[in-house]
Amino acid sequence: MFGPGEYRPDPSEGITSIAELPPPEIVRFSRTDTRQPCPHCGHSAYRDKQAHRTLHDLGNLDLWCPRDLVITYSQHYCTKCRKYFNFDLTDLAPVGSHYTHRVIDLAVRVVVEDGMPYRPASWHLWRDHRVFVPFATIQNWVEAGGKKGADTHGHRVPGLGAG
Ligand SMILES: [Zn+2]
Repeated sequence: MFGPGEYRPDPSEGITSIAELPPPEIVRFSRTDTRQPCPHCGHSAYRDKQAHRTLHDLGNLDLWCPRDLVITYSQHYCTKCRKYFNFDLTDLAPVGSHYTHRVIDLAVRVVVEDGMPYRPASWHLWRDHRVFVPFATIQNWVEAGGKKGADTHGHRVPGLGAG
C-alpha cells in the first residue's frame, strides 16, 4: 500500500516521534452559536468567546495522511450560575480527549474483539488507518472501556455512560 519513496516506518522499531509523521490534512469546522442552554440550569447563555480544539481522527486514506479536526467552538457564560461552559463536543470526542470517538472505538475493537496486543494494534492503526496512537494510550482506553466492551459486544453509544 506504500508507494515508492513514501514514508515507511519500521514496525520493529515502532513509531517513536510525532515529528516523523507526515503532515496531517486539516479539516476545519465550527461548533458555535450565539446562545446555548446552560448544562446546569438550562438558562440560555450568551456566547462569551471562541476557542479551538484539535482532535486526531482516522486518517485520509485517499491522500494517505493523518487527519486532524480543528474545531472552533463557542464558550458561553451563564449569568445565573456564574459559570463558563463550552459548546458540547461530546458527540465527537470524550471530554479532554485528543482523539475522536471513531479512533477510540476502532482501537478498542482491534484489541478487544480481534485480540491484537497493544503494540501491534498501535502499528495497525497507523498502517491501515493513518492515525498515530501510542500503545499506552490504547491500553488506557481498553482498560477504561473493557468491561462494557466485553458484555455488550458491539457498538457502544458514546457519551451515554454515567459520568
Ligand atoms: Zn446555569
